[in-house]
Amino acid sequence: MTNPETLFIDGVWTAAEAGGTREIRCPADNVLVNTVSEAGTKDTVRAIAAARRAFDTGPWPRTPMPERGAILLQVAAGLRSRQEEFAHAESMDTGKRIVESRIDMDDIANCFDYFGKLAGLDAGRMVDAGSEDVVSRIVYEPVGVCGLISPWNYPLLQAAWKVAPALAAGNTFILKPSELTPHTAMLLMDLLTDCGVPAGVANLVLGAGAVAGAPLSESPDVDMVSFTGGLSTGKIIAASAAATVKTVALELGGKNPNVVFADADFDAAVDNALNAAFVHSGQVCSAGARLVVEESIHDRFVDELVRRAKNIRLGGPFDDAAETGPLISADHRQKVTDYVQAGIDEGAVLRCGGEWGTGELESGYYYLPTVLDGARSGMSVVVEEGFGPVVTVETFTTEDEAVSIANDTSYGLASGVWTQDAGKSQRVAGRLRHGTVWINDFHPYLPQAEWGGMGMSGVGRELGPTGLSEYQESKHIYQNLRPAVTGWFSA
Ligand code: NAD
Repeated sequence: MTNPETLFIDGVWTAAEAGGTREIRCPADNVLVNTVSEAGTKDTVRAIAAARRAFDTGPWPRTPMPERGAILLQVAAGLRSRQEEFAHAESMDTGKRIVESRIDMDDIANCFDYFGKLAGLDAGRMVDAGSEDVVSRIVYEPVGVCGLISPWNYPLLQAAWKVAPALAAGNTFILKPSELTPHTAMLLMDLLTDCGVPAGVANLVLGAGAVAGAPLSESPDVDMVSFTGGLSTGKIIAASAAATVKTVALELGGKNPNVVFADADFDAAVDNALNAAFVHSGQVCSAGARLVVEESIHDRFVDELVRRAKNIRLGGPFDDAAETGPLISADHRQKVTDYVQAGIDEGAVLRCGGEWGTGELESGYYYLPTVLDGARSGMSVVVEEGFGPVVTVETFTTEDEAVSIANDTSYGLASGVWTQDAGKSQRVAGRLRHGTVWINDFHPYLPQAEWGGMGMSGVGRELGPTGLSEYQESKHIYQNLRPAVTGWFSA
């Protein structure tokens, strides 16, 4: 299938002005999925102009918030009724198992539901000005035109965390998904239109970040840029957005410690350590890629982790026996390969993995689940995000040391604590400098709970009430009910 009209601008499907196209291939087997438009700068500028017009003169920002919320609820229902179509598209782009894509689609529907229901619940705030002659109130207004830039690992989920609150708050937007995974964003544009989102409110540009994405942070016509992706891209976007002092929200990477005390439920902790590190082949911003285990159980714990990691079955989206899938691209697999080699060169001990998939797996970008034991603070594999199926192992002997190792990172996205001592779990959770801390679990998140990172993991929060206020400006309206001469200056 070839469809070069895959940019959605001002309510119309359109081709890239310069005629650019890109082939999308499934990373599980390199099969051609589709050929889509590759936007140039001019296309993004066109999309920004459409979103600007829709914001400045269109009905959407002035539509009552509960009405916008009702549209989001319809979007959620549409996602549920078309789940298989969306999940299939997501799996073809990412190579992830269809069962995982179905879970993602459920989560996305829940996200639209959450922001749909939240819309209109908070109509602002009265302020006591200390005088009966004054009415003072705070109202919440949309930020304006939003540039929404999202990554390839959870393509529609990461986009939905931005699109749903942006729409609820009355903004217009230009979505720029990863150039590798465009299809669910395309499906979403039609669904939004079907549910009543007016032309120009939701726009989609596809293509390389530095070309199709850059105008979103540069343009004075964009009021806010919300970005999810890697740290180095986030720095470029923040620097570029500074020139026009636009609002910036950044959801960046993580290097997330999973701290296991000796008194943890052993089987549950091992099992979840596998999930933490190897779900979606580690291509998860909150992956528990740093196992920090108490010295006294290290040997038994790591032996069991390695035994089970070796058993993980890899395969494509529709292979019922597969437990996880490929990496996103040849380039990314090479990066993971080099990353593991650097760890070994620095003295980490390869306990399993460290190799590409063989046999039937050779047509895709598979990398075997990898455990690097004997890791130490300062090694590149401990400091840098690998974004692959790789877990490093460090040890500690005291609670203080566990906290200090876990906090020894420039990132601060998420962490896990495993212990059956309730007091210890709360003490440690309270001291960890991460946006999410799981106790005796790893990975769950809730649309009603804020998500985001401390340190270099980002700026701002998605989801929860804060996830909506990110897309709002607050305005103070102060009214004097008894206007009078002040007498400050002489007559
Ligand atoms: P990336 O930074 O390479 O790309 C992310 C997006 O930015 C893509 O759409 C890309 O085209 C675009 N982009 C690249 N350069 C740009 C530029 N100069 N201007 C505008 N846009 C530009 O990241 P990726 O490889 O797609 O995703 C993986 C990264 O995302 C990992 O680091 C991961 O940790 C992070 N991530 C974070 C979260 C979170 O919630 N914190 C969630 C998912 C992924």
